[in-house]
Amino acid sequence: MHKAFETGHNGVVVSDHEIPDIEESPEAATPQDVLRWAVDRYGERLTLSVSFGGPEGMVLLDMLSRITDRVPAFTLDTGFLFEETVAFREEIMERYRVPLNVLTPGLSLEEQVERYGPELWSCKPDICCEVRKVEPQKRYLRDYDAWVTGIRRDQTPQRADTPVLGQDDFFGVAKIAPLAGWSADDVEAYVHEYDVPLNPLLSMGYRSIGCEPCTRPVAPGEDPRAGRWADSDKTECGIHIAGGRVRRADT
Ligand code: SF4
Repeated sequence: MHKAFETGHNGVVVSDHEIPDIEESPEAATPQDVLRWAVDRYGERLTLSVSFGGPEGMVLLDMLSRITDRVPAFTLDTGFLFEETVAFREEIMERYRVPLNVLTPGLSLEEQVERYGPELWSCKPDICCEVRKVEPQKRYLRDYDAWVTGIRRDQTPQRADTPVLGQDDFFGVAKIAPLAGWSADDVEAYVHEYDVPLNPLLSMGYRSIGCEPCTRPVAPGEDPRAGRWADSDKTECGIHIAGGRVRRADT
């Protein structure tokens, strides 16, 4: 699965593939070509977010591992993850040689309770997500120029205008979504073809997996994201969507 990598002009580029010029028409490029271009363009200032919940991050991790072993991935460990997700993450990173940064919030769970009270996720989930996801990611991305994410346009109406190549002014980085135009079937086909490992909860009725207090399984035919913040009108943690819109430069 993994091969030896040669050093390109920015220190990290894969050896045996031509680097595509995708800036003219990024929507027509394959996700692998988008990643190759991004690795060539940003080198070690590029980073990939992986939640180890849904299949999209795993697909991108697999693709990236075939291109380079020098560009790091990162994941947000809120302290509220399912133990299955943490165990899966630890097991699977033995298989992929991509460096992984595990981000933790500035406030411990105890400090959060002290400052905001217990079960913040239930009374003020936006603040909880801000403390445990948005702030750690903002701190981390200060050291990077570009962020690769697995979001797809057909996941939610709010994600429907996600560009493959965008700019996130809030986080101050280029935001690259190689799978923006892919369907769930495209993702599943890649998983099948390349034998990509998936979070075991996905075969237990969970279709979109986040923190344990805010995630439930969904019924057959139900929207895959219906199990996230199911008892409230919250649909996003705030990393991708702010004020109902995808964060990017031209909004
Ligand atoms: S998903 Fe829930 S538990 Fe996790 S950070 Fe957001 S509100 Fe808190």
